[in-house]
Amino acid sequence: MESSLDTRIVHSFQENASDIGNESAPSYQTSSFSFASLEELEKYFKLYQGDSANRASQPGNAVIDELGQAVAMLEGAPAGVAAATGTSAVLTGIMATVSAGDHIIAAEDIFGGTYRLLSQELKHFGVETTFISFHDLEAVRKAIRPNTRLLYSETVTNPFLRVEDIDGVVQIAKENGLLTMIDNLYATPYLSQPFKKGVDLVVHSSAKFIGGHSDAAAGVLAGSEPLIQKVREKIVNIGAQLSPFEAWMTCRGIKTLGLRMEKQTTNAQVLADALMGNPLVSRVYYPEFVSKRGNGAVITIELMDQCDIHRFFSSLNWVKIVPSFAGVETTVSYPLGTSHRALSPEMQRKIGITKQVVRITLGIENSKDIIEQFEAALRQSAE
Ligand SMILES: *Cc1c(COP(=O)(O)O)cnc(C)c1O
Repeated sequence: MESSLDTRIVHSFQENASDIGNESAPSYQTSSFSFASLEELEKYFKLYQGDSANRASQPGNAVIDELGQAVAMLEGAPAGVAAATGTSAVLTGIMATVSAGDHIIAAEDIFGGTYRLLSQELKHFGVETTFISFHDLEAVRKAIRPNTRLLYSETVTNPFLRVEDIDGVVQIAKENGLLTMIDNLYATPYLSQPFKKGVDLVVHSSAKFIGGHSDAAAGVLAGSEPLIQKVREKIVNIGAQLSPFEAWMTCRGIKTLGLRMEKQTTNAQVLADALMGNPLVSRVYYPEFVSKRGNGAVITIELMDQCDIHRFFSSLNWVKIVPSFAGVETTVSYPLGTSHRALSPEMQRKIGITKQVVRITLGIENSKDIIEQFEAALRQSAE
């Protein structure tokens, strides 16, 4: 019988452990390896690179491969690979699926950095992207061109937490011979496993919930072995290999993913309920349903006009302003000034990023203390 997800999260590495019974994955702080003879070199390359010339991300540093494999296992995918950052994971995933002259259709409310990558960098290399609302999947279908190759979206988008209809997106892709790529950062495999629904490539910035401690930058992708093999080659070709130390830190973080997500998701639900009744909050965005395990650790609120946004942020005591998110601490961010600042003012207006919008990511603190912080800051912002 397959063990439950909570158990598999903790034991995701033991199954893959390549060494002699270590409790944690071994890491060698080295950027290269040395050999006494050509025979040893050959043996080594066979071992770590199999038949493909570019296989290993960093030959010998099993911990890097283990991170990819652990996330693949949690996502229910046959293969996974780690990259230097979430952004380079997104880039190499896209590079493995499209080439110059191809067309991508992406949800208009995806992460600002991914929007920038597609609309600026990839455009320069001849890959065009149409950004449209995935609210209306008929519009997505209509946007398909003869050269469309990829549909790109996120399980739950930021900051307004729209839950993607993954089954619907996969269906359109299958009917039209397209590939699908989903950023599963918000939900994590704890809440959603898009690969199991037929998504081709699942990507994460594991600096966020997967690693969970705001201390290690990394990215991971999960998918079929042939597609992940292609991504592996791109990672080496553009020099986006993950450092062994970051891999080791991320592997350590994963073991508590279940505990963290459970607590952070519960805290988010409790805070969302409390703020919905607060007269100084004009809107609370929190998904109604992501999974039976919960609805995620992020909520977004819009403050009433009488609230001074600067005073609100400076009145939060131990809740810090952090442009990133998803560590064990509760943090706030300001989408207009950070994640969505690259968007044109029209696009900001269209998707609702106003100067009163605040994104809150819940940590693992006591929920009463968290509510108290936010209620006090709201009061002070309106004084
Ligand atoms: C942060 C983030 C990324 C980029 O990851 P980095 O590790 O910062 O490069 C991609 N997608 C989403 C949804 C993110 O929040």
